[in-house]
Amino acid sequence: MNNKIFLSLLVLWCCPVSTFSQDDYPERRDVLVEEIEAMVMETREYIGKDRLKGAVIEAIRNVPRHEFVPDLYKSYAYENRPLPIGSRQTISQPYIVALMTDLAEVNSNSIVLEVGTGSGYQAAVLAELVHHVYSIEILDSLAQKAQRTLFNLGYENITVRSGDGYNGWQEHAPYDAIIVTAAPEEIPQPLIEQLKPGGKIVIPVGAQSRTQYLRVITKNRSGDVEVKEILPVGFVPLTRK
Ligand code: SAH
Repeated sequence: MNNKIFLSLLVLWCCPVSTFSQDDYPERRDVLVEEIEAMVMETREYIGKDRLKGAVIEAIRNVPRHEFVPDLYKSYAYENRPLPIGSRQTISQPYIVALMTDLAEVNSNSIVLEVGTGSGYQAAVLAELVHHVYSIEILDSLAQKAQRTLFNLGYENITVRSGDGYNGWQEHAPYDAIIVTAAPEEIPQPLIEQLKPGGKIVIPVGAQSRTQYLRVITKNRSGDVEVKEILPVGFVPLTRK
């Protein structure tokens, strides 16, 4: 996967920047949705379904991804690939954002924690579906930028702060769902503790040198956890303060 990201970055360097007008963005989001739906079909044996929930697809259709992408990459904002957002971090591939959101099984009452705000895009997609999103980012500069982007877009149900999300965000726990968008080598214990019984953690796990797997952890009513491995992924590492 890391190789794939590298290759797509190389392609970015080689291709001339295409000129799209802002009016094209809604149509390009529709095309992106079709690509995500096709990729869901291709990966159905891994993910156990051949379509994502309609509300998740609508959220992808609503969120202006180009607002979360640096100017240099805006014309690629609706391609189904990760893109650089500065500080050696990336905005995730839209298919992965959609899949993780679907796997979190949230609804309009959910309180959700995201670890790894990055650009703020995943937080915005979640905010279309849930009651409130708390999102933690370890790099101050990215946390501040995401906060500005989300404020300018009018999202009132997202709170961003900078800090080490390994420890979760105790103040607002327990959460109905936790989405982690950077990969630790093991599932952080504080996140399991801050999850409500019946809730889900969606998290990529694995060392950078090995294949990471997207996992879904379900905490049952008695507090026991069940871990399900979904598919191989390539995320930046979860770092520690
Ligand atoms: N969800 C993001 C993608 C983020 S990439 C988006 O939609 O754009 C992963 C992010 O996790 C990076 O910004 C990285 O700085 C952050 N990160 C890494 N380790 C972290 C930690 N321990 N706590 C919080 N954020 C962390």
